[in-house]
Amino acid sequence: MAFKDECGVFGIWPHPEASRQTYLGLYALQHRGQEAAGICSRGATELLLHKAQGYVADVFSPETLDRLSGDAAIGHTRYSTTGGNVASAAHPFLVQGRFGQVALCHNGNLTNTEVLRRRLIEQGQVFTSPSDSEVILALINRACAATLEDAVVEALRQVEGAFSLLILSDTQIMAARDPRGFRPLSLAKLGDAVVFSSESCAFDLVGAEYEREIQPGELLIVDAEGMRSRHPVSGIEPKPCVFEHVYFARPDSFVFSRSVMGTRREMGRLLAKRYPAEVDLVVPVPDSGVSAALGYAEACGAPFEFGLIRNHYVGRTFIEPKQSIRSFGVKIKLNPVRELLKGKRVVLVDDSIVRGTTSRKIVQMVKEAGAAEVHLRISSPPTTHSCFYGIDTPSREHLIAANHTVEEIREFLGADSLGYLTEEDLQTAMTDPGGQGFCYACFNGAYPILPKK
Ligand code: AMP
Repeated sequence: MAFKDECGVFGIWPHPEASRQTYLGLYALQHRGQEAAGICSRGATELLLHKAQGYVADVFSPETLDRLSGDAAIGHTRYSTTGGNVASAAHPFLVQGRFGQVALCHNGNLTNTEVLRRRLIEQGQVFTSPSDSEVILALINRACAATLEDAVVEALRQVEGAFSLLILSDTQIMAARDPRGFRPLSLAKLGDAVVFSSESCAFDLVGAEYEREIQPGELLIVDAEGMRSRHPVSGIEPKPCVFEHVYFARPDSFVFSRSVMGTRREMGRLLAKRYPAEVDLVVPVPDSGVSAALGYAEACGAPFEFGLIRNHYVGRTFIEPKQSIRSFGVKIKLNPVRELLKGKRVVLVDDSIVRGTTSRKIVQMVKEAGAAEVHLRISSPPTTHSCFYGIDTPSREHLIAANHTVEEIREFLGADSLGYLTEEDLQTAMTDPGGQGFCYACFNGAYPILPKK
C-alpha cells in the first residue's frame, strides 16, 4: 500500500506558548493536508502528544492546547488519499527508546521504505502503522551512535527519497531536509525562538521573521548550546519539487527562496505569449488557477474576472444526494456567474490537469452558463508521470496526459482550444534555465531517484 504524504510541518523552540503557536502555524498550513493533525510539546517532565483525524481547528480545543504545555513543540498536518484515512498514520510519532522520548513528523515520501521496513522487521522491529516516519524512528533507535544527534545522522544516511523532518526530544529540536530537498522547509526567528515551517505563510501568522531555507541535505540541531548544522550526505544535486510552485504551496508563501505568487504569475504571462486567445474574459479556476490567470490577463490584455465562485466551506464530509445530480462534486465547490459569462469568449486558466474529470465538468459548467467559447489554458506542462516524492498523483494509467495527445484531451474536455505551458517556459518562470535546478519528473519522467521494492 503506497502512502502519499502531502503534508505540512511546523515547530518552535523555545516559546512560552509553544503549542498555541504551533496550532496557529498548522492553521496556516492547512492547505497542505486536511486528513489529520497533531502536535507534540515538551512538557515539564515529558513529551506530550495530541493527534487525531480532521481539520486543525477540529482536532484541537483550548483544553487540549492547555494540556500540551511546555516551551517547545512540533506539529503536522496530513493529507492522504491513496493510503486511506488511517488514524494510526497521523503525525507526530512519539516513541520511547534508547534516547528517551523522541517525536518526529515528516513531509515527503521515502523511496526505500519497503526495503528498510523488511530489514527492520527481520531484526525484530515492530510497527504500529504503515508510515515512513516509524521506519526513521526505528533506524534512529537502532543506530550504533551514542547520542541522539549522531543516531539521527546515521539514520539519515540510510533513508532515500523525500523528507522534510522535524524531531523533538527533551533537550533538542532538529530539522532535516533530504539531499535533493524535494519538499520545502524554512527557518525563521520569533524573538529568541527558532521557528520551522514548510511554508513561510505560517511565519507571517505567528509574526516570525523569515531567515532562510533549511538547505537540501542539512540537519539543523538546536539545543541549550545554540544552533549547529550537519550534512549527513553530500555530493547529491538538489532537486526541489517544481509542483510546489505550480500547485501545492500557498501563493503568499516564499518557497525554495522564491515567491510562489511571482512564479505562478510568470507562468501565466508566458502561457499567454505561447498560447494567446482572442477572448473577452480571463477566468481562473479558483483557487488553483488564480495567480496564473492574473499573469495571463496581464499579458493578453483581456479583463480578469471571477467567473466561477468557490464555496470555501466544503468539508470532506458533505452528504451527497441519493439521486444523482449531474456534476454534483464540482457543483458543490464551484458555481458560475452567469451574468459575467453569458455570450462571452472565455479563457479558463487552471494550474494542471490530472485525470481530466474535474476539468471536463468545469468546462461544461462554463458552457452551460452561456459562454460562447471556452479556451482552456494550463499553467504547467502535461502531467505524464506519477510522483514518488509525496505529491498525490494517481498511477500513470489514470493520468490523462500519459496516454492521450493534447488534441484528444481537448476533445474529451469539450474545450474550444487547449494550451499547456511548455517545459521550457516553466523553467523560465522558475528562473531555472536548462531545467537542472528542480525536479520536473511529473512532466518529463526524469526521476532523480527511483523507488526500491
Ligand atoms: P482533473 O481535471 O480531474 O484532473 O482535476 C484538475 C484539478 O486538480 C486542477 O484544478 C488541479 O489544481 C487539481 N490538482 C492538481 N494536482 C492535485 C493534487 N495532487 N491533489 C489534488 N488536486 C490536484
